[in-house]
Amino acid sequence: MFLVRLVYTSTISENFDHNDITDILETAREQNKKNNVTGLLCFNRKLFLQCLEGSRTDVNQTYHRILNDPRHSDIIMLDYREISEREFDTWSMGYIPESSLSAPVNLKYSGTPDFSPYDMSGESAHKLLFALKDTVPTES
Ligand code: FAD
Repeated sequence: MFLVRLVYTSTISENFDHNDITDILETAREQNKKNNVTGLLCFNRKLFLQCLEGSRTDVNQTYHRILNDPRHSDIIMLDYREISEREFDTWSMGYIPESSLSAPVNLKYSGTPDFSPYDMSGESAHKLLFALKDTVPTES
């Protein structure tokens, strides 16, 4: 059962209520603990950028549930690859809020100082998440 990493981006849909992020994180953490999926979710109140790590089966099943979720749309997979180890293993789903995104960090990994994951390569999107991981609180 080897490991894979999947990174995707998406946009909130018209059904999205801003309190939904709390529900999304709660469900994600509960489900991911059961499925041994780990990762990070970055959200700037309009766009999501998420990384999922785990076995190929678990990550694919999780991504399929996420794809069918009406709270977001325009879901684009940015990167999918086999990995030898997890990088976000201490989070069932760590959260990176808008306040952690700064113009310098956006500019480092994309062409503009704005958070623009649709314009990022899979590698840059992953590196942005990796660069921000030290800002993410440990889960209890
Ligand atoms: P059920 O709970 O049986 O729900 C049935 C359907 O209703 C599903 O399509 C579900 O997506 C949808 N739904 C659920 N709640 C609402 C709501 N409040 N409003 C509208 N529709 C709703 N799940 C994970 O397991 N791991 C993750 O890491 C993860 N990350 C996510 C990131 C984002 C940005 C989003 C939007 C969702 C994420 N989810 C994640 C939630 C995922 O989409 C599913 O809702 C969840 O896994 C439960 O799936 P289910 O098939 O058991 O749905």
